[in-house]
Amino acid sequence: MTRWIEHAAIVLAGIACALLFIWLLRFRTPARAALCRGPSRPWLYAFLPWNWFHSHRCDYDLSGSLPDAAGQVTCPECGTRQVRSTRRRRPNRRRTDRIALVLLLIALPCWKVRWIRAGNWAPYTPTPVLLAIEHAASSHTPGSVREQLRARAETMSSVWRAWLCRIAVGELRDDNISSNGDWAMDVLTTSLPQSLPMLERSLDSTDLQQRQAAGMVLMRLIDGDPHPWNDTRLPKLPPNYTPPHRLIEVAVEGLAADRVGWDAGFFTTNYLMAFRYLIHHADSATGELEIALGSDDPQQQLFASAIVAISRHPALAPRGASNLLAHMASDAEEANALFAYQALFRMGDDAIPILENAIAVEPDQDGQRARAALLLVYRLRGTPITDAESRHLNRISQYNDPAQSRDSWMLRMLPPLATADE
Ligand SMILES: [Zn+2]
Repeated sequence: MTRWIEHAAIVLAGIACALLFIWLLRFRTPARAALCRGPSRPWLYAFLPWNWFHSHRCDYDLSGSLPDAAGQVTCPECGTRQVRSTRRRRPNRRRTDRIALVLLLIALPCWKVRWIRAGNWAPYTPTPVLLAIEHAASSHTPGSVREQLRARAETMSSVWRAWLCRIAVGELRDDNISSNGDWAMDVLTTSLPQSLPMLERSLDSTDLQQRQAAGMVLMRLIDGDPHPWNDTRLPKLPPNYTPPHRLIEVAVEGLAADRVGWDAGFFTTNYLMAFRYLIHHADSATGELEIALGSDDPQQQLFASAIVAISRHPALAPRGASNLLAHMASDAEEANALFAYQALFRMGDDAIPILENAIAVEPDQDGQRARAALLLVYRLRGTPITDAESRHLNRISQYNDPAQSRDSWMLRMLPPLATADE
């Protein structure tokens, strides 16, 4: 298709050159005065495009006609009464020059179609034009338009930045355009003080992806990047900023297994962001977490249990720990036993009585859960055990110490052990 468009450009340019040649030929005839103007037409005719390329002048030579008493002549060709024109001109009914110009104007973008499609024009385009293009046709704009807008987000004037934020908030929605959500989250992060009210409003959106993405941007701004190796410079929130309680609700909702699960451009997904956020803010999420502990969604229930255990929530931690114990029984989900083990390990001494109760009801200690629970008690109490004993008890990880295993995304989102042990 691209090649055909380029070929069409050559054809159009050829026709234009031929027309220009024809136009030049008319200069062989000398210009004459007193050519009939033709009947006058309403000025509205000038707006009809076909009139731009075709002259309605009559061009009959009136030099021989005699003026009447009023000094006017009547054209024998078209019957128009007029004062004889003194301006010298050549008859020119077809505006070949204009037709050639238009053909050349069409041929040029056809010839540069690859350049246009690649968006190489974006760096030379003013910001409002880029915004208008992104606003009107976000699904068809080349990536370079978004790249330019992202690069200019920090320096553009506040009027344009407000427009950019509105576009970005809209693109957080669930749509079929790839990677525009990442771009939008990035833009909303960089244009911080202005994007804040829009992000907070988006938490109430009816579109799941939109409210989850807005929640992720806010959580990242509040808690920082989820990975220490990601050293992007995050803008600072206004001092004494308190996020709306709705953010807690969106976070708890995000713990569930949903279709949002995208890599948000900063190496995480909504449930892992929510998981980390709620560990830091578990005390203000008691009601929501209590409901999530009994959730039908296994992922939401597992994460909520780990959150209350790791944050040592005064009211909910024991319930979370019992849930985690149940998850240690089998590896139904990927690494969930290991995840439960590590969460209980971070709960510290508070987990010991719960673990000992579980061991007591399973006296033969043969199952995966009982062995893991016993190993946990040894580790938490600091009881020295031999490698052979540890291997016998550890059925959940190929590492000798399951607490050190970090080989899945889920485990990497757990808070580092050094701080959890304090
Ligand atoms: Zn005439």
